[in-house]
Amino acid sequence: MAMSEKITVLTGGVGGAKLALGLANLQPPPQLAFIVNTGDDFWHLGLKICPDIDTLIYTLSGAVDPRQGWGIADDSAHVLDSLKRRYAFKAWFKLGDQDLAMHLLRTQAMREQVSLTDFTSSIARRLGIEAAILPMCDAEIPTTILTREHGELSFQDYFVKQRWQPAIQQIRYNVDKEARLSEVVREALTSADMILIAPSNPWLSIAPILAVPGLLDLLESLSVPKVAISPLVGGDAVKGPTAKIMREMGLEVSARAVARSYAGVIDGFVDDLRNPVFQLDWLRATRRDTLMTSLERKVALARDALDWARGWRA
Ligand code: GDP
Repeated sequence: MAMSEKITVLTGGVGGAKLALGLANLQPPPQLAFIVNTGDDFWHLGLKICPDIDTLIYTLSGAVDPRQGWGIADDSAHVLDSLKRRYAFKAWFKLGDQDLAMHLLRTQAMREQVSLTDFTSSIARRLGIEAAILPMCDAEIPTTILTREHGELSFQDYFVKQRWQPAIQQIRYNVDKEARLSEVVREALTSADMILIAPSNPWLSIAPILAVPGLLDLLESLSVPKVAISPLVGGDAVKGPTAKIMREMGLEVSARAVARSYAGVIDGFVDDLRNPVFQLDWLRATRRDTLMTSLERKVALARDALDWARGWRA
């Protein structure tokens, strides 16, 4: 039997999980590895929370709330309600009761010195997920946001508490000297037949992954197709602050500017049909409908992106 193709994907949460679900439903099934942003991770109420990893796990195990694209479907919020009503706790971060089960287990694992990589793979296996879900790094690399209004904000303070309204002056990827590329991430990249960058936020979800020591150099050294999918559709974000951040950083709000931010990292780009056409002499590009509003569309985009890149690899 032919070995199945190995596809490794750099991804954030909600936008990336849509593509992940499409890839996971392809026939024949490729061997999938997702390198997931952990720059959004934080400690809250004593618990270790990894929003992007959880979004991927809930999506691929079929538990995700389909309306939000994150959290668990039909989850209750008794714990959060009790914190608010009984203890006047200012609950700005939404935590469902079933979602809390994940955070409790993860926190216990962290206390027992289990690595985030090992914990994540054991949970994913228990939930029947075949793809490898790999935290970008076992060390914490918290993203912080420098704003004029509030100074430096932790990521969730900026994103959830302030609803990403403060204007960004600078985004910091706080790489600790302990941070190392994990062996599984290295292996997922070096053994891949193709590398994809999901249509995730380039500055809040993908750049933190590229900031993991050694990862960028490794990516640049690989000669397999490396393809990003545009997170901008019709010149705007489908959801979230991607376009707003580009404006605040003085960038043109366009797929071309996104592609240019990946210079040296990618050699292919799947643009959306609704974006203005552009050309860069170092980049192969194709234009598709990238709006993933149904499972069929997710699978179709995943299949098209892979077919296209296979075509020019041949
Ligand atoms: P987060 O970590 O939960 O914020 O999510 P991501 O960083 O993975 O994804 C956010 C990005 O996904 C935004 O820039 C959106 O524009 C993009 N996005 C969301 N849905 C779609 C879609 O259906 N198609 C495309 N092309 N981009 C999407």
